[in-house]
Amino acid sequence: MDRREFLQTSAVLAGGALAARVPNAQSPPMVGIQIGAVSFQDEGTERVLDALQEMASINTLFLATFTYGRGIGGRQIPNQPLPDHGKQEYDSGFRGGNFATPHPQYYRNTSIAPEKAPDHPGYDVIADVLPAARKRGMKVMCWFEDVIAADVPGFDKAREVVLSGPPSTFACSRNPNTRHFWLGMVEDYLRSYDVDGLMWGSERQGPLGNVLVANHGTAGNGGRAACFCQYCLDAARKDGINVDRAKEGYARLSAWADTIRTGAKPADGAFVTFWRLLVKYPEILAWERLWNEALNDTYREMYQLAHQLAPTKGIGWHIWHNNSFSWLYRAEQDYGDFSEYSDFLKVVIYNLCGGERLAQYVRNVNRSVLADLTPDQALALTYDVQQYHDQPLDALSAAGLAADYVFRETRRAIAGAGTTMKIWPGIDIDIPTAQTSKKTRPDDVYQAVTAAFRGGAHGVLLSRKYSEMRLDNIRAAGRAIRDAKVA
Ligand SMILES: [Zn+2]
Repeated sequence: MDRREFLQTSAVLAGGALAARVPNAQSPPMVGIQIGAVSFQDEGTERVLDALQEMASINTLFLATFTYGRGIGGRQIPNQPLPDHGKQEYDSGFRGGNFATPHPQYYRNTSIAPEKAPDHPGYDVIADVLPAARKRGMKVMCWFEDVIAADVPGFDKAREVVLSGPPSTFACSRNPNTRHFWLGMVEDYLRSYDVDGLMWGSERQGPLGNVLVANHGTAGNGGRAACFCQYCLDAARKDGINVDRAKEGYARLSAWADTIRTGAKPADGAFVTFWRLLVKYPEILAWERLWNEALNDTYREMYQLAHQLAPTKGIGWHIWHNNSFSWLYRAEQDYGDFSEYSDFLKVVIYNLCGGERLAQYVRNVNRSVLADLTPDQALALTYDVQQYHDQPLDALSAAGLAADYVFRETRRAIAGAGTTMKIWPGIDIDIPTAQTSKKTRPDDVYQAVTAAFRGGAHGVLLSRKYSEMRLDNIRAAGRAIRDAKVA
């Protein structure tokens, strides 16, 4: 080893201890918060930004720029207590849409109308916040999600086609109208505004997970088997997948799920009869792959376009919480694959509402693919497979998941991410839960943020929206960031 090599090696070793605690030590960690237009309108842009910097050293704003959903847009949802800031009133007339200004030239190749959100007439959240953020050295990311109201003009020409049952509330990712809608939005945000990057999220899964209800939603009945639209049928034929067999397979899987949900026990049990269907109809899995490929192509094309338009700005994805619960869904979220078309991932690692959600997931799969087990066994299996362990089922919703879950899920993401993709765990602050379920306390936030950095996170993203967070909980995140000595 020559002197130069030795010095380099020692520097790496000396930095090793530091790097373990302060990952990505070259650049300061991203400290972000998700925030919607209503908060700037209600509380004043300058005041909000000052408060966020002061309370939690926030350096990146994730503006909810497009959604028709209440998860990231609007004020606190009705029937949940209003936080200690903002207008003390519910916005029950919330509609959503594009909270900036849609520029029609970017949406020529899609049927989906680029609607400006009517909630704040004449207000453009990016145009308003960007200069105020710049003045304070804060970055601005556009944060938009795969939630389009079914009555938006042109949505019907993009909607997923289900095999049977109620129509899908989602647009097919393979339909060119959908693809060009998202690509148009990427181009619109990057060309119309000097923002620092984009984050997009899609909280849904393919037909297999849907039919098994392998998620934490409250859908008591079987989920939709989609998509069987013309574009998906054509893609299947091109791949040599037998469409009729796929339809027959999903029809039989749906019938199986309906039977198991009634509490009926086949002589061979739920799991074996499920697996038998997979063996008889491998087209079930082929269609699941086909569904995921359309979504992955969406990520790839958005990434490609964003890098072509603005090579130095980042684009990444919000990864749905179901990644923590369902092994089916987790298997489809391959961090190594993501690293090829993502600058960062916001992995949802919400531990506080996570208890309630995991309990619901277990109840769902216990009425389908894991019906052979007791609920406690279904939870134990889930813990083992997902590689974290926490409370027993009867204590889970009230206790939430511990910070150890945040640590483990962060570490797993870092291990899978490779060297270029950043991992910014989503930390939950005051996400609504049932009255008897875990509520956010300052110490919980402190522990979760600390655990994320201990797991090697390159930043944290306080979620879901400022308008539902209590200030003492935001301050606790700030304390954790200061104590971790990362900001
Ligand atoms: Zn389709």
